[in-house]
Parts: sequence; C-alpha cells; structure tokens
Amino acid sequence: MHVDAIVEDLLDRQDEIMRELFNFLRMPSVSTDPAFCQGMRRAQEFLLDWLNRMGLSEVQLLDGGGHPAVFGAWNGASGKPTVLIYGHYDVMPPDPIEAWVTPPFEPTIRDGRIYARGASDVKGSTVIALATVAAFLSLRGSCPVNIKIFLEGEEESGSPSLRNIVLQHKELLQAEAMISADGGRASAHFPTINVGCRGLGELEFSIHTADKDLHSGRYGGTVRNAIHEMARIIASLHDERGAIAIPVLMAGVPPLSEEERLQIAMLPFNEAEFLREVGAQGFGETGYSVREQLTLRPALDVNGIWGGYVGPGSKTIIPNTAHAKLSLRIPPGQDPHQALEAVKAHLRNVCSPLGVRLSIIDPNTGTPAFSLRKTHPLVVAAKKVLLQTAKLEPVLVRLGATVPITTIFHELLGVQTLMFGFNLPDEDVHAPNEFFYVKSLAEGLTSWPRLLEELGKFDLEQFRQMAIEAAPPQSPHGDTSHG
Ligand SMILES: [Zn+2]
Repeated sequence: MHVDAIVEDLLDRQDEIMRELFNFLRMPSVSTDPAFCQGMRRAQEFLLDWLNRMGLSEVQLLDGGGHPAVFGAWNGASGKPTVLIYGHYDVMPPDPIEAWVTPPFEPTIRDGRIYARGASDVKGSTVIALATVAAFLSLRGSCPVNIKIFLEGEEESGSPSLRNIVLQHKELLQAEAMISADGGRASAHFPTINVGCRGLGELEFSIHTADKDLHSGRYGGTVRNAIHEMARIIASLHDERGAIAIPVLMAGVPPLSEEERLQIAMLPFNEAEFLREVGAQGFGETGYSVREQLTLRPALDVNGIWGGYVGPGSKTIIPNTAHAKLSLRIPPGQDPHQALEAVKAHLRNVCSPLGVRLSIIDPNTGTPAFSLRKTHPLVVAAKKVLLQTAKLEPVLVRLGATVPITTIFHELLGVQTLMFGFNLPDEDVHAPNEFFYVKSLAEGLTSWPRLLEELGKFDLEQFRQMAIEAAPPQSPHGDTSHG
C-alpha cells in the first residue's frame, strides 16, 4: 500500500485519533509530584495497551529505579535501519491551577486549539507518532523501517533514571537512529528541521545569616536579613542589560561563527511579535538577535526563591535562611560541568565577603548541547518530506530548550536524534493554558508516515555509512568524564 493511502487513512480517522489523545490528556501524569502516581500508572497502562493492540512485540515497562519507560518493538524490516521513536508520557505540574481557563486535565477545544496540560509537551506529538506506526501495521502489515518505541516517564523531572534505563537495556534499545516526538517546530509558517538544542544545568542553594529567625524589634537594624542578602546575590548574576555577569562562565562560550549567524538569519522571525505574544520587553545580552540569544548563547535564570514568612497576617521576623533554584541553558560547545562550577564559584565569591553561609545542593552534572549534521540521513530524509508537504525548502534551526535524551542516547547508544515534534513555539508549554493546535495533528499525520517511508529507502549499510560520515567530532570536553 502506497504511503499516500496511509496518510489518507490517518487523516480520515482524525476524530478517532483525537479521542485517543483526549484519553491520554485526561491522565494527570505529573512525574515530579508523588501525589500524581495514579495518573502516571494510568498513562503507562494506556500506552502498554496501545502498543500491544497495534501488534508490537517485547511490550514492557523498562525500569531504571524511578518512573519506568514504556517500550515496544517491531522487527520485521530486515535489511533496513532500526529507528527508535522517542516521546514522553509525563507532564509538568499544572500549577497555578486557578490560572487555567478550563481544568488542565479536561482537554477542551477552543479556537482551533486543544487546551490541556501536556497537549503540546508532548502528548500531542507522541500520539501522532504512535498513530503512524499503528496505521502502517494495520494497513500494510509492516513498517518501512524497524521500530523501537521508547516513551519516557521522567522527562519533566530531569530524567533522573534515564541513564540507568538505557544502560540496563542497551541491547534492547540498539538502533541506527532516533526520531523524537519531543522538540517541536520553530515556526508556524516555514518548515524547519531541528538540528540541535541547548544543554541544561540546574542548581539549588541556601544561605544562612544567623542560627535562627530573629525578632525584628530586638535585632532589626543590627544583623543581616537572609532575604535581603539573597536579593543581592541574585542581582549579582546579571548586569543591568541582562547579560550573565560571571566572566569565567562566559569565557567558556564559543563565539558565533558566520555560518551559524547565516543559518539563524534564514528563518524569518518577528522579534517584536515574539515578545508581544507574551507581553514582555526585549532584554538580554546586546549584540545578538533574539534567536541567537535563544539558541546559541547561555541563559541563567532564577526559577524560584523562598524564605521568611508568607503565611496570613504578619510575623515580624528577620529570616535567617533563604533559598533559590537556578537553571542554566548551555549553548553548543560549552561544557556543562565547567559552566555549573563557574556559577558555584561565583556564589561562593559573593557570599564570603558578606559573612553569609552558603550551602549548595549537589546539582546533577548537567546536559551538554546537542548538534545534528545536515548530511545525516535523518536530516536528508526530513528535508525531502518537508519539501514535499510544505512545498518550501526547510530551514535548519536549533532549539533554545533542552532535550536531554539527544545527548544521553548519543553518548550511550551512539545514535543521533532528529527532533520531529509538531508542537509550535507559542503553545504555553509548562505554563497555565498549555495548548496544541488542532491543525498540527493533521500536519503531523501527513509528515510522520512519509518520514518513515523515506528512511525505509535507505538500506541498512548505506544508512550506517552516512550516519558515521555525519557524526559530529568527539566532544573536546569529554561528556562522560564527570559522570
Ligand atoms: Zn517539558
């Protein structure tokens, strides 16, 4: 059966596929909060059932000590490459609930948008991928390539056991390449191919200014207040323009090449609209376009601060402790371990002359940025598909966000990842009223079958050879050295 007929069938059955998506969205699979463990289990069962029903083999949960991943395989395309399909079934917490127009786990269509937590990130695109494989198997009885589906359950909580899972199931997960349903489109108007993403480092720290909270009448004006000091410390992280003010960290950021700047400039991008959509003013390091700031420069953000009394009424204390969480988006070429060390050293340098005691909660070592070369067969195939479906030459773009699996799977399994999600940048991921455009469902269902079909045109040896030739140079920083 021709791939056009597969696409046609998928488009005819959009309502049915949408119902599956809605079922999936009703499951509150928040990985970071144990209160949602029931939702996590329901999502696992839903996916296990679907993978079994579509006729995959080896369907199982892969346990790495945390929330398991859901796995299933189809190995009937002999002599063809094996493609891992990645998605994640967990979602961000829905808070603040009161900011949602309709409840986060009751998917609702308004103005051509499906509103629900996880609709954009990334259940919508995951369902597109699963429906595609199911359609090939039910209509043609085979897929163009061998398929291994891997659906993670901890993406939104930093993938703590992903390495374990992959290491314990290395044989099972062996593949030539990976396509990720996570990592979406950069533009609603132009076809784009994601060829990279920024890395991520995270850090939490506390400061102490006294042994206990103090009475503001008996000590006020005589001792340091932890919250005032926290404000001072946080203010020291950036200059007035919003550029990171940690010279050691910035020294590890490679300068932009002409080619990188040209690639970025090829994507029509309306900076004013980008900012207007979120009601914000342009800010940040000078000398770079917004997309350069977003994809090739680092970003250090305070994600939350807390301390003191915030309950009802008043409590006249001088708080003795304050806490903060930071995240650092890491551009290509920067070593995440060194970057986090630079932040820690900066915090120590600021705290010690203040006489403030600092404790840093041991952070993970961070994820480096990821890059995929344009000669990789995944990119070659995606270009053909998008040229055909969008009738425009796709632009190669990088993401500002982080998809840690790209790095982990490259490091542990030697596979490169093409991010082929169908979400769009304005869909309020991680925020209240997250949504997924209804029309993206059809666009994804048109492109995913064609992508698998294109990949099936490579025979195994040819695919491997092209992938090896397109392999990025070994990281000079040694991704594995810091565990
Ligand atoms: Zn996310």
